[in-house]
Amino acid sequence: MIKVAVAGYAGRMGSAVVEAVSAADDMVVACGIDPFGGEAEFPTYKDIASAVAAGGFDVLVDFTQPSVVAGNLEAALPAGIDCVVGTTGLSNEKLESLAAMAPEGTCLFYAPNFTTGAVLMMQFAKAAAPFFPEAEVIEFHHAKKKDAPSGTAVRTAQMIAEARDFTSTAPGKETEIDGYEGARGTLVDGVPVHSVRSMGFVATQEVIFGSMGQTLTIKHDSWDRTSYMPGVLLGIRNVGELSGLVVGLENFML
Ligand code: NAD
Repeated sequence: MIKVAVAGYAGRMGSAVVEAVSAADDMVVACGIDPFGGEAEFPTYKDIASAVAAGGFDVLVDFTQPSVVAGNLEAALPAGIDCVVGTTGLSNEKLESLAAMAPEGTCLFYAPNFTTGAVLMMQFAKAAAPFFPEAEVIEFHHAKKKDAPSGTAVRTAQMIAEARDFTSTAPGKETEIDGYEGARGTLVDGVPVHSVRSMGFVATQEVIFGSMGQTLTIKHDSWDRTSYMPGVLLGIRNVGELSGLVVGLENFML
């Protein structure tokens, strides 16, 4: 039985993690950490230091806030606790320095996107990229999303650019009419990326490839937060076998 601590257990993602871990038969919620959390069916703490001092868990799952995640990891990793992190906002350099604080055999696993479907969408896009001269990424998110383009869209565009050994000949930003800049999206490594923000969406992404006389569209829709949970459980199940910094759910899927 894997004993899991959930940081941010009262939040949107954290409460979904509590539900998913509780429903799985090979793991249990050992405790929750959240300064704004209420009573729960498991021990709760207001801060990570108290939880680490009390102990009794193997894995820390963190869905908190960009401003606090590093502090949580600085407390957990040196104590030899494997960490599964979904909170965004940590740079690669920061992730590396945090992982370096952990003793040998302890893992920091970070996934910018925990949906298995989005990971596969990116892999399919990578496979298609060498065969299509043109590619465009369109991502659609709820109106409360704070950043544009999404991290997933940026990573998809980078993977397309890495997988092809040519430059797109599609008209680019130089064709935008004065006063209408942005019509061709933003270029990420030469791949146009377009961001739509609207009520009604959770997270959707389309990658459209074009070649002579044909287009190929790869599309992934995330309809609610349960879509992230199979990926989070996969991370919890695998992190104990690994050491150091591991980034991306594809490490456990492909
Ligand atoms: P939320 O605001 O609903 O929840 C965050 C929770 O963290 C809150 O309950 C808050 O009280 C708690 N918190 C604040 N400080 C804390 C601390 N020091 N220790 C413990 N808990 C603390 O946010 P959310 O929608 O659940 O998203 C959380 C994070 O997850 C965001 O960074 C978001 O971008 C990210 N996210 C990642 C993925 C992914 O696939 N990687 C998917 C969705 C969301």
